[in-house]
Amino acid sequence: SGDGAVAPHLTIVGAGLAGALLAILLAQRGWSIDVYEKRGDLRELGYERGRSINLALAERGRHALRQADADDAVMAKTVMMRGRMVHFADGHLDLQRYGRDDTEVIWSVHRGELNEALLDIAEEAGARIHFHHRLDSVDFEARIAKFGDDRGDTVREIHFDTLVGADGAGSSLRQAMAEVCELGDRSEFLGHSYKELEIPPGPDGGFQIEPHALHIWPRGRYMCIALPNDEGTFTVTLFLPNRGAPDAGTLNGVDGDHGDTTNVTKPGTHPAPGFDTITTGAQARAFFDRDFPDASRLIPALEHDFDHNPTGVLGTLYLDRWHLDHRAVLIGDAAHAMVPFHGQGMNCAFEDCVALANHLLQTTARGEAFAGFQAERLPNARAIQQMALENYLEMRDHVDDDDYLLQRELGNRLAERHPQRFLPRYAMVTFTHLPYAVALARGETQHEMLVELTRDRTSLDGFDWDAADALVEARLPPLPEDY
Ligand code: FAD
Repeated sequence: SGDGAVAPHLTIVGAGLAGALLAILLAQRGWSIDVYEKRGDLRELGYERGRSINLALAERGRHALRQADADDAVMAKTVMMRGRMVHFADGHLDLQRYGRDDTEVIWSVHRGELNEALLDIAEEAGARIHFHHRLDSVDFEARIAKFGDDRGDTVREIHFDTLVGADGAGSSLRQAMAEVCELGDRSEFLGHSYKELEIPPGPDGGFQIEPHALHIWPRGRYMCIALPNDEGTFTVTLFLPNRGAPDAGTLNGVDGDHGDTTNVTKPGTHPAPGFDTITTGAQARAFFDRDFPDASRLIPALEHDFDHNPTGVLGTLYLDRWHLDHRAVLIGDAAHAMVPFHGQGMNCAFEDCVALANHLLQTTARGEAFAGFQAERLPNARAIQQMALENYLEMRDHVDDDDYLLQRELGNRLAERHPQRFLPRYAMVTFTHLPYAVALARGETQHEMLVELTRDRTSLDGFDWDAADALVEARLPPLPEDY
């Protein structure tokens, strides 16, 4: 900085999405940043399969990227998604727009390309990224972190002031912290897992189905989705219970807590399949031919990919505390991994980065900064974790349901009549920066109203708009000015 002051230093574990963005935010503001990443440099090695291939980026994630001057670089690699393209069981299609127009959309981005862009910007800003450094253990008294290297058995010991754990859902830093303090951590597994498949480009090199949509094949207890990639492919994700029939009713607490009655097979679908009954590529093909025939035709390597791609587990991680006094703090999935059904894990992690950077820039007392960060973000993380679970039911089971569609229609009409008060919950989460906890609370009030107002109705013919308007004004305070 030229004034002789020593730049504050921070050690970040994990150069994934959150680690890279936090490094940028602080390096750009003059901090000295070292990031330790267990994998090699994906810009040299190429991207390893394993985690989801592409992600939906929403407004709050973009808002965070803008604080880091990274929005343009990232947006250059995205594909716009205007809504959900629902592929019904009878074969017909329906585009359910997410928002009012093309200002209310989400963006599909390849995880590897996004991570590469952020690593480039972090290094340009002066952050040092050390690849092949896997955090193995931490001596919090001596403030020494030990790193191993997957390529050999070299061990490096690094002295730190403060560690930030951006090392994802299986965080090693979290495990080390849990050995010296009570984090109150618990994981709830969903009982459903996922498998990724691919729709390649057509013979002309272009997209084979509508590119500007998030495709969903809802089938009650299970579903497929597909997100576009900028090179003309789609990543298809099959979500399926771990156990199919005959144990269809024995889902664990997470699902049960959210009113899952969908083990009752819907008309038009078949007895519930699961990853225990569909175990080979050939079985997967037969299942796709039966339940997702239009998708099946577009996935030539289905058998191979089903057999070779890993089956990913899904769960929610809850902690009661995210920091060890002034010595260590967790962000992103390391603090609050969630199920992916709202497409918000990364967006939430990016908001964490901005919040933590702001707290660190406001005070030199790191314990205070970490406590402030946790107080601000933990209730919001809890809120989006809950909404993400609820969205699974919505996506796989409700988007083709008449009551749901009527409530949705009424919600959109009320939003037009009361733009200052009524905003569908999906829009609050996806197109605004309203805190997640606010979106959850307002969403609950709105949902109760919609259920009440549509009870015993099959359409909005003869609807009493005056009564509905009065209800909105009585129950929903105006939204804040700048959301
Ligand atoms: P990660 O991205 O997991 O990064 C952690 C990094 O730490 C990695 O680079 C890892 O190699 C490194 N690391 C791990 N252990 C160590 C160690 N011991 N030492 C050093 N480094 C280590 N979110 C969205 O917003 N939109 C979506 O559409 C979306 N879709 C998803 C679909 C699926 C199927 C899944 C599973 C998740 C999805 N998510 C989505 C969530 C999103 O992937 C995560 O929330 C996001 O990756 C969290 O970022 P992170 O930096 O905290 O963790």
